[in-house]
Amino acid sequence: ESILNRPGIKMIKSPDKREKVCEALKSLRFTENDVKQMMKVFEEQIDYANSLNEEDRKKSDLFWECTYVSDLVKGNENGRYLGLDLGNDQLSGPAELVFDHIAASMETFITEEKIQSQTPIGVGFTFSFPTVQKTLKKSILVTWTKRFKCTNGPGLDPCNLLEEAIERRGGLSVPVNVMARISDTTGTLMAGSYYDKKCAIGLILGSGSNACYVEHLKNFRKLDPKEAKSDKILVNCEWGAFGDNGCLDFCRNEFEREVDQYSNFPGSYTFEKSFGGFYLGEMFRLVLVKLTKAGVLFDGKGSNELMTRWLWKSRQVTTVEKDNPGSSENTMSVLKEMKLDTIATEEDVVLVQEACYLMSQRAAYIVATALAVLLNHINEPEVSIGIDGSLYEHHPRFHDHITTLLQKLVPNTKFRLFLVKDGSGQGAALVAAVESS
Ligand code: BGC
Ligand code: MG
Repeated sequence: ESILNRPGIKMIKSPDKREKVCEALKSLRFTENDVKQMMKVFEEQIDYANSLNEEDRKKSDLFWECTYVSDLVKGNENGRYLGLDLGNDQLSGPAELVFDHIAASMETFITEEKIQSQTPIGVGFTFSFPTVQKTLKKSILVTWTKRFKCTNGPGLDPCNLLEEAIERRGGLSVPVNVMARISDTTGTLMAGSYYDKKCAIGLILGSGSNACYVEHLKNFRKLDPKEAKSDKILVNCEWGAFGDNGCLDFCRNEFEREVDQYSNFPGSYTFEKSFGGFYLGEMFRLVLVKLTKAGVLFDGKGSNELMTRWLWKSRQVTTVEKDNPGSSENTMSVLKEMKLDTIATEEDVVLVQEACYLMSQRAAYIVATALAVLLNHINEPEVSIGIDGSLYEHHPRFHDHITTLLQKLVPNTKFRLFLVKDGSGQGAALVAAVESS
């Protein structure tokens, strides 16, 4: 489908300007060929990630970790468990200080909720950063992502850090037993399965992105089948770093490359940076800058706010997207915030909306492409996909864009995407419950 057919583009009166706009925006298209190629590359990378041969494993940046969570929620679990969720604050400094803060927050929670217990309360810990998972509890942080930039952390075990921080305080006012470290995706899958028995994928579309899904044991070579508790296994894809080895270069556009270049960790988390909420605002800004520099937007001038890196957040994207065709209230509020309202013409407003629409659609199509591969692995006639994260929750069109493409890619699967609000946190407590029963 050509950009020229977009209603807002058709409204541009000058043919010369229309052409310039299309030229500037054309790399926002995620073509049929891109989809096909990405599915193929993703499969290859999964295969490498899953290999027993270490040399082969190095050819993939996917972690594809066994979660060691033995089952989805069955419904007969009971008891009292604590879910702890770390993944989204803005934190820096030594990791020990971050964990002191977490332990202090746990104490505050226990006090405020008046929790009492003589026996240890099982704690599930959602720690949403790339780790190598050794057992249900033991994992090793590989790197920080998103807004985190602590001075240390890689190489350390998050459950250890938590237990040490609790010890430094001389314990909490109730005894706790840290049982499991999970990813927010695993949490979302668990919480999703609590609400919907057909849930087999937990997806995070927040500042970062990742997925966890139910794989057939026979397709997961890294785990010795003797260690498995059933013929299914929960796999934490940790797919954010997909593409770091260059395997996605065929479809990366100039905006994605520039976002990466000026990000906290250049050259890493390629896949996540192409649609994660932490990056979309900056990407949107870069698209508008390109149009401005091409002389087709904001009188070729813009504002300081337009030219300031990382000033735009995904909130600006979701706000603009909230305008229906023909309305401009939300877009104007963003333009006002960015000191662009006084120079924006009517055509500018429509162009800003089109740019936002196309960029968001591309982002959602990339997600749908990866999901299609997971659905092919799961290979069930009906699958629900539980999703947590601010991008999915607040973006008014993401759901529909993913659905549209997925219907084409997996025509024989009846799928359902649904919001599992705070699935990442709830899931941690559910894992503790499932593992205790
Ligand atoms: C982290 C993942 C996490 C995802 C979603 C990524 O940046 O590496 O571990 O699951 O964000 O929060
Ligand atoms: Mg959360």
